[in-house]
Amino acid sequence: MSTDARPVTTASLGDVVDALAGHRLTVLTGAGVSTDSGIPDYRGPDSPPRTPMTFQQFVGDDAFRRHYWARNHVGWRHVHRTLPNTGHKALVALEQRGVVLGIITQNVDLLHEAAGSRRVIDLHGRYDRVICLQCGTVISRRELADRLEALNPGFVEEVGAVGDVEIAPDADAVIEATSHFRVADCAVCGGMLKPDIVYFGETVPRERVDRAYALVDEGDALLVAGSSLTVQSGLRFVRHAAQAGKPVVVVNRGATRGDRYATVTLNAGTSETLDELAQVLPSPHTGA
Ligand SMILES: [Zn+2]
Repeated sequence: MSTDARPVTTASLGDVVDALAGHRLTVLTGAGVSTDSGIPDYRGPDSPPRTPMTFQQFVGDDAFRRHYWARNHVGWRHVHRTLPNTGHKALVALEQRGVVLGIITQNVDLLHEAAGSRRVIDLHGRYDRVICLQCGTVISRRELADRLEALNPGFVEEVGAVGDVEIAPDADAVIEATSHFRVADCAVCGGMLKPDIVYFGETVPRERVDRAYALVDEGDALLVAGSSLTVQSGLRFVRHAAQAGKPVVVVNRGATRGDRYATVTLNAGTSETLDELAQVLPSPHTGA
């Protein structure tokens, strides 16, 4: 049969091992990898529908931006306290054994770095940095926290009494509580500050995309873990690997937009699957 279609199977772990054994892997991770660390996956099959914030909303609407920063001022502390899970640790072990070359992650939580992964491309940015949209100055989120704290003394304690601003961000009580929040501007030029995170409507910086393509090219196979590949920014790497004839394995709860490019798809959680792979995948032979 002459066709470009690749065999898509609903597989077992054994099929995943067969597809990946002996290869040096590039790994693409998404929100599903962090759910066992307590970070909600808003795209997961069991998640409530939620409209993601767009870049245009952030830059174009003062009230929206104030509400965003007020919530972020409270919520970023929770991300900061989050710990890597079994899946993150398994990827560290696989990197140490030479099975995993590096990770491209769509997550901004830095849990791969926290676990000890050495080579990580934070495709969509990182939560611990803030960038000025006017002059490009980057500061740490902690530095901004000090400035926001000075501008809004007692705010965190006050809004804490209202309820969970992350879980019910659009509740009237939360909107009311955040309406007097004072936003900080760039200390260098007075420009607008934004978390150094790629939002909907924004593009990933070209240099970062190129590094990610290079990492895919360097690997013999691509393993996608915990991403539904809804956005083009991740899907393009799957397409790229498939077009190069490399095995592509997708491990995710639920279907993904990348399934048609996959050699094997495994409908499973990433923590247990990556942990098992760390135990059974052999180190690739080198210099052969
Ligand atoms: Zn600036």
